[in-house]
Amino acid sequence: MTRASDTPMAAVRASGGAVRLEAVTRRFGELTAVDGVSLEIRPGEFFSLLGPSGCGKTTLLRIIAGFTPPDAGRVYINDRDVTEAAPQARPTAMVFQSYALFPTMTVAENVAYGLRVRKMGRTERRRRVAEALARVDLAGYEERPVTHLSGGQQQRVALARALAVRPAVLLFDEPLSNLDVALREQTRRELKRLQHEVGTTSIYVTHDQQEALALSDRIAVMRAGRLQQVGTPEALYGAPETAFVAQFLGGSNLIHDPALAARFTGGEPPPDGHVLAIRPEDLRVSPDGGVPARLQFRQFLGLYAEWELRVADQVLRAWVDPGLEPSADVRLQATRYRWVRADDEAPARPPATPLHDATTGT
Ligand code: ATP
Repeated sequence: MTRASDTPMAAVRASGGAVRLEAVTRRFGELTAVDGVSLEIRPGEFFSLLGPSGCGKTTLLRIIAGFTPPDAGRVYINDRDVTEAAPQARPTAMVFQSYALFPTMTVAENVAYGLRVRKMGRTERRRRVAEALARVDLAGYEERPVTHLSGGQQQRVALARALAVRPAVLLFDEPLSNLDVALREQTRRELKRLQHEVGTTSIYVTHDQQEALALSDRIAVMRAGRLQQVGTPEALYGAPETAFVAQFLGGSNLIHDPALAARFTGGEPPPDGHVLAIRPEDLRVSPDGGVPARLQFRQFLGLYAEWELRVADQVLRAWVDPGLEPSADVRLQATRYRWVRADDEAPARPPATPLHDATTGT
């Protein structure tokens, strides 16, 4: 997919691509799918909307694309209010999860589709199709029926179709989720490189935290239609503000019991309304010194082993040296921890929910 960036495609960079959402809301019947979202996405930024299934990220993307009108709020692209504009009147192009290619058309016809809709002349259309296909390493595939291509190639045709219109903003709705793991990782790297070359603002919907961390300049974590936290991957991972973000991004252990938390922090009192978050990689198993814990379950995961340990009435996950000899009773220390705002992911003090029970083996 790598090509020199002195093609006209680089002109996209100059077209900006700032997106501003002001208090955008969308309801479906009783359900508020997007709830008062305000957000600014900078020109050239790779920005991900990350959250669990049903949190409203696709709806928000479709609102930016113009496929779903908001019930309230405004959408601006490059400071132009596009809230009422039709999709084809916006400087956006979308890459869908299903690729949404036309099965009866060739590769070139699919890529040219958006250009035809925009009534572009044949010569310029041809030039743009060739350029976009070269960009995604599919030069020479023009006349193939899309149904003869592999999933990964179809995905690249979908990307070429979006690039061909030279949008100011590229919108991606889980574009890699139909690919197998190896192809997914390869395509992820290519996508990142391509975005770097072309410089188009990209808004990327995913529920995959790894994908968001790997690709993004910034991420917005969403939950139940609302933004939870917006920041760089490093900031979100290193400094989650809420229990939900701490758990969703990196799977922190959340300790609700202030007495147990104090044993990991050396007696530090919890700030009001906060719980303790410790990442699995920040728990150290040591034979002496630390909080007593009982090993319940362990699995070898290559670089590390994941141990599940019962500590008081909770089960904590720790990533430990895979060579460490298992021992039923150990002690745990936190090499790093963070206080995060409690939410219903970690309310005042829920009952323990063990992942595995050593006595029943379930
Ligand atoms: P996923 O990752 O599963 O696609 P998502 O975070 O993208 O989830 P949305 O597709 O935006 O979530 O949906 C948000 C909520 O709105 C969900 O509860 C969904 O069922 C609902 N919803 C979305 N589109 C419609 C629709 N056209 N009619 C009714 N409800 C809808």
